[in-house]
Amino acid sequence: FDKDANEPEFLQAVTETLQSVGPLLRDDPKRVETFRRMVEPERVIIFRVPWVDDDGRKRVNRGFRVQMNQARGPYKGGLRFHPTVNLSILKFLAFEQTFKNALTGLPLGSGKGGADFDPKGKSDGEIMRFCQSFMTELYRHVGPTVDVPAGDIGVGGKEIGYMFGQYKRIVGSFDGGVLTGKGMSYGGSNIRPEATGYGLVYFLSEMVQRKDVAPSLAGLRCAISGSGNVSQFAAEKLLSFGAIPQTFSDSDGTLYKETGFDEADLAVVCHHKNEKRGRLRELEGHAEGWEYFEGMRPWQVGKGYDVALPCATQNEVSLEDALALVQKGVMVVAEGANMPSTPEAVEEFERSGVLFGPAKAANAGGVAVSGLEMAQNAMGIQWTREEVEERLRKIMVDIYDKCDEGSKMVEDGSLRIGADISGFLTVAQAMEEQGHV
Ligand code: NDP
Repeated sequence: FDKDANEPEFLQAVTETLQSVGPLLRDDPKRVETFRRMVEPERVIIFRVPWVDDDGRKRVNRGFRVQMNQARGPYKGGLRFHPTVNLSILKFLAFEQTFKNALTGLPLGSGKGGADFDPKGKSDGEIMRFCQSFMTELYRHVGPTVDVPAGDIGVGGKEIGYMFGQYKRIVGSFDGGVLTGKGMSYGGSNIRPEATGYGLVYFLSEMVQRKDVAPSLAGLRCAISGSGNVSQFAAEKLLSFGAIPQTFSDSDGTLYKETGFDEADLAVVCHHKNEKRGRLRELEGHAEGWEYFEGMRPWQVGKGYDVALPCATQNEVSLEDALALVQKGVMVVAEGANMPSTPEAVEEFERSGVLFGPAKAANAGGVAVSGLEMAQNAMGIQWTREEVEERLRKIMVDIYDKCDEGSKMVEDGSLRIGADISGFLTVAQAMEEQGHV
């Protein structure tokens, strides 16, 4: 991997997966060759995104699309708008997406994209002009059977709407299947905004019950990081299961309530983040028991937790954080964000007997419902909320089963190793049957 030496996040993701699937490759040169091809993106597109801010100043950002693997369907994966976006991060995310999308059982390839654009502090007009400029280049590389992007950090329903509108103007036809995460008024799917958070909690519920951690999620104290899309809907679903979400965070600090945030509290947090685009520190003391810890992650505050759900970003749980969580009594970690735990943190969890749900499996609900959105678009129908949620629940249970089965294929297997093995074998078979391409 010398040629990727300047891509640390990508190398981290590949190394972790290689360690899991290593035993399957050891005496099988064909599989080694397949893995070598899997780590090489089929195509990477890098482009200029010029736009004009509200003061009339000319600005420019860098746009990317990593088209990773098309063996099982169109490239599929989100777009991230965040100042930290670079090729290493997008290649790691696209690589993870290959395994995740295979675990859903849906006919999806893998990809990831975005830009080093910071939506924070930008006006609606600026965000719209940026999205339109981004799509003015991206449109020639995507399409319902080619590549189907969705949202990720910094890209929600509003941004998808602006990009879809621009795509439609350029190509001159309504190809609903070109993006997922669309609004319900123009071809979106019920439950898509909720899907990653809800799916995470369905997966967590399987972990807790099937591994005899507790009879149900009721009464479990949960630390959640982030306060965006995944965190908000994970908290909502936890509450419906009777669990106790005690924290939210953003890149500045952690909001904590020892007795747990209830439905009314959650509505306040969501309104503050989504409508006001506010910071969590502004909610300190909002009501009795609302505490705020500047510069701290949820893992370091709080008296004791049963469950940790990292839902913000990559490498947000360090070894030190993992030690703190173990010391606070955490029994289960399920990853809502992509690769939120460092390799040292994962090692510490496994060493301490903490049950660990890897991102590839635990947060696959979002892309699963994106796959269902594509299916609905192809048929020209919209399923009800109940119908989509029940399909999501079944997919998450099925993913758990695949991880469990995969874990039994090697000595000392875990759900983490099982997820990698199951995803790898599914994609490898498709690649090999198509002439190893
Ligand atoms: P959002 O943009 O809605 O929210 C991101 C949250 O994480 C915000 O609270 C943000 O805080 C925080 N955050 C972002 N970057 C950092 C950072 N460098 N340090 C600390 N906090 C940070 O994104 P999503 O909820 O959609 O995504 C969260 C994670 O889940 C990502 O890893 C994403 O890849 C993953 N994911 C998302 C899916 C989806 O369907 N949306 C699907 C599968 C995975 P702040 O406001 O300060 O930036």
